[in-house]
Amino acid sequence: MKKSTVIIVLGVAIAGGIWYRQTHIPSNATPLASPSGETETAIPSISLPPTDDPSTPDPIETNPVETSPPTKPVDNAGSGATKPAIAALLADSLPNLTIEKNKDGLPVVTNTSSLYVLVNKKRNLPANYEPRDLVVPDVAFSFSGNSPKKKMRKEAAAALEKLFKAAEKDGIELKAVSGYRSYATQKSIFENNANTKGEEVANRTSARPGQSEHQTGLAMDVSSASVGYGLEESFGKTKEGKWLAKHAADHGFIIRFMKGKETVTGYSYEPWHVRYVGKEVAKDITKKNVTLEEYFDDIASSINRKA
Ligand SMILES: [Zn+2]
Repeated sequence: MKKSTVIIVLGVAIAGGIWYRQTHIPSNATPLASPSGETETAIPSISLPPTDDPSTPDPIETNPVETSPPTKPVDNAGSGATKPAIAALLADSLPNLTIEKNKDGLPVVTNTSSLYVLVNKKRNLPANYEPRDLVVPDVAFSFSGNSPKKKMRKEAAAALEKLFKAAEKDGIELKAVSGYRSYATQKSIFENNANTKGEEVANRTSARPGQSEHQTGLAMDVSSASVGYGLEESFGKTKEGKWLAKHAADHGFIIRFMKGKETVTGYSYEPWHVRYVGKEVAKDITKKNVTLEEYFDDIASSINRKA
């Protein structure tokens, strides 16, 4: 292309451009300068539909997003919660439902023949209560001859036989020392203790008449040759005492007067005194490592929580 032709073409192009701008671009349009030098026309704003249209479902509400895994409802607090079946078993035996004042104003239990009867310094058995199903369990005793203190209630006696057989299988020799005691017998024991050791010691180490578990026919004192069949704290340190603590619950018994719980039970630690409450309850109590008093308190509050 010749130089003159280029000049003509450029001149026509520039003149055309000026003409185009003057005739096509409105005067109120503000050209925007871009960094590259190109010009852009301002874009008028677009009105958007309202976002709060009630006909438009909220996607968050219709498709809820779970931020944590679903949790099952918990019906009892704590990991050691009582199974509902056990709570139901004990519902009629709760301490507040099974107490009344007798004519002398003494608090007496009303569920005397229940396997779950709670007898302690605040809960007396009636003086005339004597279990109707007392039998002598077929176990070794620390003494010979007939005596009411060999007796237990039928179900407890059968369980004691199984407990002693299990011990024998494990090479542990236990002997039964003292089971059922009538109100009258307990009265003379307590009075004798009070006379010889003083009332304070007697109160801590023996029950007043009406307040002994031995009157229920559900308790047995157990000992071994290693402590001369004595009922003493050292029994808890013998292999027999340790075996008993470990296996009593398998056969429905609890160590009733625990170490460190003297203020709850009102009695010194008695590793020799086992009380029958049935396997289910005994296992639960032992697992929770609580006294019968504390256990009932827990059951009562768990039932109240549900009510
Ligand atoms: Zn005892």
